Amino acid sequence: MAAAVAEKPAKSVRAPKVADQKMLIDGKWVDAASGKTFETINPATGEVICRVAEGDKADVDKAVAAARRAFESSAWSRMNGSDRARLMHRFADLIESHADELAALEALDNGKPFSIARAADLNLVVKCYRYYAGWADKLCGKTVPIDGNYFCYTRLEPVGVVGQIIPWNFPALMQAWKWGPALAAGNTIVLKPAEQTPLTALAIAKLAQEAGFPDGVINVIPGFGPTAGAAISNHMDVDKVAFTGEGSTGKIVMTAAANSNLKRVSLELGGKSPNIIFADADLDAATAGAFLGLFFNQGQCCCAGSRLFVEDKVHDKLVDRLAGMAKSQKLGDQFDPATTQGPQVDEGQMNRILGYIDSGKTEGADCVTGGKRVGDRGYFVEPTIFTNVQDNMKIAREEIFGPVMQVMRFKDADEVIARGNRTEFGLAAAVWTSDIKKAHNIAHSLRAGTVWVNCYDVFDAAAPFGGYKTSGIGRELGEYALELYTEKKTVTVAL
Ligand code: ADP
Repeated sequence: MAAAVAEKPAKSVRAPKVADQKMLIDGKWVDAASGKTFETINPATGEVICRVAEGDKADVDKAVAAARRAFESSAWSRMNGSDRARLMHRFADLIESHADELAALEALDNGKPFSIARAADLNLVVKCYRYYAGWADKLCGKTVPIDGNYFCYTRLEPVGVVGQIIPWNFPALMQAWKWGPALAAGNTIVLKPAEQTPLTALAIAKLAQEAGFPDGVINVIPGFGPTAGAAISNHMDVDKVAFTGEGSTGKIVMTAAANSNLKRVSLELGGKSPNIIFADADLDAATAGAFLGLFFNQGQCCCAGSRLFVEDKVHDKLVDRLAGMAKSQKLGDQFDPATTQGPQVDEGQMNRILGYIDSGKTEGADCVTGGKRVGDRGYFVEPTIFTNVQDNMKIAREEIFGPVMQVMRFKDADEVIARGNRTEFGLAAAVWTSDIKKAHNIAHSLRAGTVWVNCYDVFDAAAPFGGYKTSGIGRELGEYALELYTEKKTVTVAL
């Protein structure tokens, strides 16, 4: 995201007015079978934006049946890869031409500043769909030399009907990470957006219809996890479920998959990423990277560099600089161009973060700045920095998912590698140093799916992302994500 943020200057927009929303099943916008709706709120004010159709099992059943029909229809299954690519490019072009509106909707529903939603989220969404459009006609199998007089080859075929359950921190982008490879490989989709942020998923689904995807290829069921989400992960006719969210929910999804039809599972879960700064690093770049690595998106990133390890010699200097940056943040309305930090996504998340801050104080860490809620309207938390953090403290072990940084001192590389790896998670990590050997050694020693060297939060549709250990199963983005959305078929012909 780092690169993307710099790419496009923001313009100033107002909060959009949004009508009540239906769900998309089989190319039609419909109410929930139960007639139920739920509110989605603006986290900067706590006010209701609109009501949204609340999907449950009956709606998921209809959506899966539609996705199955679409998967088997010749309109989709016989479509040339190059035609699928053309559709996906048209879709990406439509998203790009509506990027300001979509970024405004994302900012309103999630709370992130509009400028960031536009420059980071929407730009990456468009690039992601274009990247996977490029793959749609390039999914090649292999010819395999086997013993005997046979011709053996493999084919990459779509998995089938895929269920996708996404979180609220980067709603449109998580949708793109899931839809891009799924569509490129020829699957059909039932998506459940997070209950906190359903709006961009629905708006983008309208653009997919306009682009011309056949009815039923894309279905979107807004609703809650234990109802609509569970209906997807338990469904006997969903071939694969892709999930991004909390580890505990990931386990529920995986158990449901195991207990139903052994559907394929990919998971992108939490993290407690070590961000390691050596004294020989470019300290200006490292300070900026440490700040971005934790406070970007209100700290609501699974890859947040929330364990900041700083070499003893530069610890105090760095903490001073970071505290200065934290104090200069402007918290406020997501549509005010001066705002650098928006609200947390909802009251529950805010309270959870404040609970972690209390636990840090109780366990004896020093809160050098921040530590409190801001105001009593909306869900704002001060950018907070703890020093004197010990590895066994709760704030050093658990994912906080908020603007709370833990700074720890270290003396040498061996120590910091051991401590960096002493976690159940393994999503991301970073190292800052001017010593190229040290940089590579540490990058290779850290048990994490992504290691950034002298940078942080650099994302690209081509670069795979995902977790070691409890941070997940499978890789999204890049060529690797196509693994998650294809079955490999071996065909052997006697000659
Ligand atoms: P977060 O703390 O980021 O909200 P969750 O794991 O609770 O993480 O939510 C991520 C997504 O998982 C959301 O779309 C949510 O509705 C969904 N979800 C929550 N519980 C379940 C469940 N039991 N089964 C399936 N999906 C769920």
